[in-house]
Amino acid sequence: MTASTSSAAGDSIAWVRISSCYLPLANPISDAKVLTGRQKPMTEIAMLFAEIETKDGHKGLGLSYSKRAGGPGQFAHAKEIAPALIGEDPSDISRLWTKLCWAGASVGRSGMSTQAIGAFDVALYDLKARRAGLSLSKLLGSQRDSVQCYNTSGGFLHTPIEQLVVNAGASIERGIGGIKLKVGQPDRALDIQRVETVRKHLGEQVPLMVDANQQWDRPTAQRMCRIFEEFNLVWIEEPLDAYDFEGHAALAATFDTPIATGEMLTSAAEHGELIRHRAADYLMPDAPRVGGITPFLKIAGQAEHAGLSLGPHFAMELHVHLAAVYATEPWVEHFDWLEPLFNERLEIKNGRMLVPTRPGLGLSLSEQARAWTREVAEVGTRP
Ligand SMILES: [Mg+2]
Repeated sequence: MTASTSSAAGDSIAWVRISSCYLPLANPISDAKVLTGRQKPMTEIAMLFAEIETKDGHKGLGLSYSKRAGGPGQFAHAKEIAPALIGEDPSDISRLWTKLCWAGASVGRSGMSTQAIGAFDVALYDLKARRAGLSLSKLLGSQRDSVQCYNTSGGFLHTPIEQLVVNAGASIERGIGGIKLKVGQPDRALDIQRVETVRKHLGEQVPLMVDANQQWDRPTAQRMCRIFEEFNLVWIEEPLDAYDFEGHAALAATFDTPIATGEMLTSAAEHGELIRHRAADYLMPDAPRVGGITPFLKIAGQAEHAGLSLGPHFAMELHVHLAAVYATEPWVEHFDWLEPLFNERLEIKNGRMLVPTRPGLGLSLSEQARAWTREVAEVGTRP
């Protein structure tokens, strides 16, 4: 059976451009995976952009990304499947997600293949919202005009403790509502010292989280979660391997401090398993990483039904819209890394990120993003 619908407006996708852009980071970034020797410090982020234009001139911009390896693979897969969009009704986003998924089904329905689809899926949502003259959050049905946000980029493990305190203070001064610190390094005493120092500096009232980036084993996670109970943390993130659902569930059941995880999962199906195991109090889906907004909404629906809190991972420029739609108050992660890629900036006030009111995502690619672009592919004819 070939599923199709006819477009009421008679419009169709005429042109698609994908670009592979490498965003350099000012300082090499280290979390616990670097300190345990599993990864090298991160020096750049590979962005995959999709630009879509219809016969009638409606436009959409989407993005996906990878850290360390994966950028060339995402681009190659996107290039192979992009022709499947030409001539299609851009409104049929769910159907097109499925069509793109089947086009590459042999390489799986998670990971790199769905992340390539993610860029197109986000672009189609951006197009639909822009065409309606609505922000993405309004198109989806917004619950709030601003979302509480916390800073991550100032709390990495390559940052010395003196600077950690300065960064945390500067973030709060800037109006960011909470502070996340990376932990999970081999020397546990240093982790505790960093958290203790920042908690003392900020006082008891400032929301504080920690993130071990999957680098503890079960006994260590038990001990560290117990020690961290006294710091009144908003959550303890990725205490264990991302796929150890039973281990996360045991921690979530044992400790008062909420457990957060989910950023490494790459499909709605994987998130479904995590939710079924009750492995998280805060679920942290990442829309580009799970394949775009279509799977993200399926995950958010399940999470809401299960009574979980939401803290989407990375890409605040996209997640601010998606978080605004969630039923209970979520947290959005503030990372300024992607800012040079866009002409627009998010506004932050009184601990909260304001949801942009411009149509769509409210983003346009900067000249700088074009300059960092290494490879481009186009299909169809630009109207
Ligand atoms: Mg994390």
